[in-house]
Amino acid sequence: MTEIFTGSFTQQEPIPEEAIEAALAVLRHGRLHRYNVAPGELGETALLEQEFATQMGAKYCLAVSSGGYALATALRAVGVQPGDPVLTNAFTLAPVPGSIASVGAKPVFVGVTENLTIDLDDLEAKLDQARVLMLSHMRGHLCDMDRLMQICDSAGVIVIEDCAHTMGAAWRGQSSGRQGAIGCYSCQTYKHVNSGEGGLLITDDEELAAKATMLSGSYMLYERHLAAPGPEVFERIKYTTPNVSGRMDNLRAAILRPQLRELDQQIHRWNERYSEIEAGLRGTTGLTIVERPVAETYVGSSIQFLLLDWSPERIAEVIRRCATRGVELKWFGGAEPTGFTSRYDSWRYADSTPMPASDRVLAGIMDMRVPLTFSLQDCRLIARIIRAEVGAVFQS
Ligand SMILES: *Cc1c(COP(=O)(O)O)cnc(C)c1O
Repeated sequence: MTEIFTGSFTQQEPIPEEAIEAALAVLRHGRLHRYNVAPGELGETALLEQEFATQMGAKYCLAVSSGGYALATALRAVGVQPGDPVLTNAFTLAPVPGSIASVGAKPVFVGVTENLTIDLDDLEAKLDQARVLMLSHMRGHLCDMDRLMQICDSAGVIVIEDCAHTMGAAWRGQSSGRQGAIGCYSCQTYKHVNSGEGGLLITDDEELAAKATMLSGSYMLYERHLAAPGPEVFERIKYTTPNVSGRMDNLRAAILRPQLRELDQQIHRWNERYSEIEAGLRGTTGLTIVERPVAETYVGSSIQFLLLDWSPERIAEVIRRCATRGVELKWFGGAEPTGFTSRYDSWRYADSTPMPASDRVLAGIMDMRVPLTFSLQDCRLIARIIRAEVGAVFQS
């Protein structure tokens, strides 16, 4: 009998009851705008920022409208100007080069290794081309952050971290997003907390925090923030920092706060699922497991493996065969970007030079979401299906 998987790769868990209650309370009083608070009231958005700052061990936190907006705000806050080159990953999601383009700056792409992390040798070679690195921990893979920070610090390159897939991850015990000058997170449905859309930005730098707050559209109401620097810092920047509205609202903040309290537990559940799939795939001929470094604490909300040096036709055949058995694989090597699988040469608004070593890796990256609605049994079944179909095509 041929086993078939019938679950959905795009179905996340429902919003927790406690979060629904909190959302209803906001709807009932109607004060959705973050600065619309009753006398003495601490709004949901301000509380979310305070709680997330504490959770990450950061001094300051700002909640905004999306992960991509957080990235663009970070670029503006560090002073990136139109025309400036900004280093970033060749393997990342479209909102990352998009945030660079949104401020009129130019992405300079850095290659990807077989570990799916930024190629640090390539980074070193390109370091003199820019003063800012937008580092994307794409699909939750952390590079050697010690070496990365040492390389960037010694060259005076500012690091902005895209932690869309590393909320709750860590490098040698330090939360992801705390190594660079600014860490940015996404609260979009397919990330680690779900408010539909949303973003969070953290930093320890008071001036960057004040600028980001003004940029996000705080009018002159920044004193209502609980995780922002004091008014004296705003005094220095408030007349020279434009308002580029992109605030978070109290409704979304209300549903995020209970989810953040459950983050560790959810990470544990993601990683249980990830391990099942990884164990089930290990040892499949022709398939390369992406090994995780010991220094990395990861969140297995998606899994990647490589079909290195396979022809496009054979990879397409694996995808087709898995799909007929209900397993949705995404492929970063396809000729055309579909869904979220674009890569550096798909973003034609930005110049790029071909990177053969990275192209070889990108051509073989297979990707799969691991929603928490999957049971451990589902995960074992999915691994058996992939193993069988990769094996069948490999031998044919
Ligand atoms: C989701 C994501 C973002 C930001 O996405 P938004 O949809 O703007 O919240 C940034 N980088 C990566 C790698 C992502 O996956």
